[in-house]
Amino acid sequence: MSKIARRQFMQLSAVAAAGLVVRPGREAQAQDMPKIEESDPVAQSLKYTHDASAVDPASRANPAADQNCANCALIQGADGDAWRPCQIFPGKLVNSAGWCSVWAPKA
Ligand code: SF4
Repeated sequence: MSKIARRQFMQLSAVAAAGLVVRPGREAQAQDMPKIEESDPVAQSLKYTHDASAVDPASRANPAADQNCANCALIQGADGDAWRPCQIFPGKLVNSAGWCSVWAPKA
């Protein structure tokens, strides 16, 4: 192994090890995130609500009564958690029983 290749290997190893160390911290960080408010301007523009059952299914782009954040492709975090991160609202938690107009089915 050349000096440069060895140096690159060591740098990549350090990055990979740092990723392993940081991962538990990221999960803890998600639990510390604030819950999104329905009054949040972005939430309002996307018709976000904490209670998907309050939304008329006929008003949805893909009408279906069983749409909620827990079964949306954009939800993150652990199944079963009442409040979870969402790709649409970075830095905030959404209610697993909630809904917004960006809802997309899981693949
Ligand atoms: Fe919920 Fe999906 Fe909208 Fe995020 S994108 S708020 S998970 S419905």
